[in-house]
Amino acid sequence: MGYFHSLKTIHYMKRVLTALFTSGVVCVFAQSGPKPDAYAKTISAADMKKHLYTLASPEMEGRETGTEGQRKAAAYIENYVKSLGLQPGNGSSYQMPYNLYQDSLISAALEVNGKAFELNKDFAASPGGPQSIYRLSEVTLIGTGATDSLKSADLAGKAVMIVGTISQNFFAQLNRKSPAVVLTVSANFPRTGTANNRGRQGIHAFKASVDPVFFQVSEAVARAIAGDKYDAVKASSSSVQKAKTELLLDTKKATVVLPASDVIAFLPGTDLKDQYLVFSAHYDHLGMRNGVLFPGADDDGSGTVGVLEIAEAFAKAAKEGKGPRRSIVFLWNSGEEKGLLGSEWYTDHPVYPLDKTTADLNIDMIGRSDPDRKPDTLNYVYVVGDDKLSSDLKPISESINNKYTKLQLDYKYNDPNDKERIYFRSDHYNFARYGVPIIFYYDGMLRPDYHKPSDTPDKINYDLMQKRAQLVFYTGWEMANRDAMLKRDIPLNVPTGF
Ligand SMILES: [Zn+2]
Repeated sequence: MGYFHSLKTIHYMKRVLTALFTSGVVCVFAQSGPKPDAYAKTISAADMKKHLYTLASPEMEGRETGTEGQRKAAAYIENYVKSLGLQPGNGSSYQMPYNLYQDSLISAALEVNGKAFELNKDFAASPGGPQSIYRLSEVTLIGTGATDSLKSADLAGKAVMIVGTISQNFFAQLNRKSPAVVLTVSANFPRTGTANNRGRQGIHAFKASVDPVFFQVSEAVARAIAGDKYDAVKASSSSVQKAKTELLLDTKKATVVLPASDVIAFLPGTDLKDQYLVFSAHYDHLGMRNGVLFPGADDDGSGTVGVLEIAEAFAKAAKEGKGPRRSIVFLWNSGEEKGLLGSEWYTDHPVYPLDKTTADLNIDMIGRSDPDRKPDTLNYVYVVGDDKLSSDLKPISESINNKYTKLQLDYKYNDPNDKERIYFRSDHYNFARYGVPIIFYYDGMLRPDYHKPSDTPDKINYDLMQKRAQLVFYTGWEMANRDAMLKRDIPLNVPTGF
């Protein structure tokens, strides 16, 4: 499970809201074909525990994307699916390589009217934005209460100094004005320790447009730039002022390239082999920080081993002549914790056509429990996305669960207005943006161990995790063997310019 990926999802979310609610369809549902029970039984708590203690061990170094730990985890998954007799999912390879690009700051200088200020003592520069030398003769000061003035301001190519605490809404509005330079004022100077000079990671080496250059400055720098006008805007947050000044900003940057990969295993189908079902989970986590291991047992070691076990069950069925009618793609993504990057790469460069992919069943955290639930309500899983894109999803999901696993399917996090915005925070989202029906399975463990070194394998409820993985398996079995692909009857207008 990743952090919020807020700005790029706002437009998409609006469209989801308009397409969400469709009338319920009564569906009489009967399963046909071979019986899955014998194969579901191979999904066992004991096997999952064995896999998870390995993946969450110090040897895997927290599986951070672009590190040796991630590569070790990929090798572990690859060796296991080979042992099951599954085919490589990307041509002759089990891995789908991609690069992460990360801006880094080499040096930064700031001068006001010929006076040089000192990095980290008086200002800090963001690693994002272009390498540049700017000499600007004017700075526009804007209080964070001046939202109406901001709407009508012409800031393209200019230097802007924001006075006050910036809200997300204010920032989004400012971004649309395409300033060249954004200065924010911070009391947090001088700074000690090592500054973070690495920026966000992304999969695109080339971008359609550049971001502004961001500098944080001390109040001393703010007054050097704007004098009394700084104090005037500070006193009245709705005001806007222009300061004439000679501002020099000089940044040197480099792009770090980190190789990464998704792992893909393939099981060919029988009479419908040109159609596909994807099971996905991310195998990356947060790595090591200051020598401390982030084991990521639940996030998403649990989903990773869930898909390993589901792969084992389907492989066994195929060996016994009960292979799925549709082909199955087992996809272990990396880059999830960096912003769903591995699944973005796969869906932007799909090995198997997305219009022939009946669904993606994504698992991200299924081994723990929501700390807000009462002890007698733990036979549950949160189900997200089953009312979007296809009206087939919910009847299948619910009838399969009623027949086999009898978990409480809880839809709390399916509300797009939920403040955690779970629908946007794992890899299924990248399939959904291309219109592929998805279901996302999740345990709700946002406290106390989420993204902490304490997300360890001894805290997993292996019996509950087994049951949840079996639900995903049974649901996938039905989707892979039924006569028709899931119909795509709930429209979703996916925005361009992600
Ligand atoms: Zn996470």
